[in-house]
Amino acid sequence: MLSVKNVVKKYGDKTVLKNLSVDFPEGKTTVILGPSGSGKSTLLRSLDLLVRPESGTISFPDITLDYSKPVSKKDSFDLRKKTSMVFQNWNLFPNLTVFQNVTTAPMTVLKRSKNDVEAQATKLLAAVGLADYKDRYPSQLSGGQQQRISICRALAMNPEYILLDEPTSALDPELETQVLLILEELSKNDQSMIIVTHNMEFARSVADKIVFVENSDILFDGTPDDFFNHPTTRIKDFLSGIT
Ligand code: ATP
Ligand code: MG
Repeated sequence: MLSVKNVVKKYGDKTVLKNLSVDFPEGKTTVILGPSGSGKSTLLRSLDLLVRPESGTISFPDITLDYSKPVSKKDSFDLRKKTSMVFQNWNLFPNLTVFQNVTTAPMTVLKRSKNDVEAQATKLLAAVGLADYKDRYPSQLSGGQQQRISICRALAMNPEYILLDEPTSALDPELETQVLLILEELSKNDQSMIIVTHNMEFARSVADKIVFVENSDILFDGTPDDFFNHPTTRIKDFLSGIT
């Protein structure tokens, strides 16, 4: 289980996470929903230490960090190894081939053997239907293909949790479907995932747990059934597009 407790994040005088506590169960898909500007990306990024909250803790069974205290390089490395972020705008390295994009970090950062990493990358690319594209450069791929490579790159780090911030918002609907199908497959295979999305249909199909964030606070933390089938008045408005 990944848990954060009493997380406070401010930008200047503006509090963007108000003392949030939430658990992200292992082997499950947690979907974070909420209006624009509510704090979803900030929450997700604080799990990967891309954002550093002022206070609170983040913990896995074997490691706990206090955001307010200095963190050793080792603890920061150990913690960041447990998660892997897939960005909205894919962020592949433009000067590396598809295969190099997937294999570089596991070898350089994790010091895994070339054979092992390459065998895994070959399997991952085949799983997303892109085995034949391994020697291309990112600029020679469609957005949907690039996003599938980004997912492979995240998986190649063997993280405990994959973090995805609006993974398909930059894609047109046809390409979006390809990517969502891969995420649904990962979810079925018990990959631990935390996904920020505005796509309600996808949220409904993939979520084991829903976290609804509004005004820097968590307004709902529970099952998709409760969220979608027994919504509060506020959630009903959100679901009907009155944000
Ligand atoms: P969206 O759905 O539009 O992506 P979000 O829920 O992900 O929104 P966040 O990106 O977490 O929202 O932002 C939460 C609040 O924090 C917003 O008011 C935003 O303007 C502010 N914010 C985010 N990043 C910064 C920053 N680096 N400096 C100052 N304010 C920031
Ligand atoms: Mg965001």
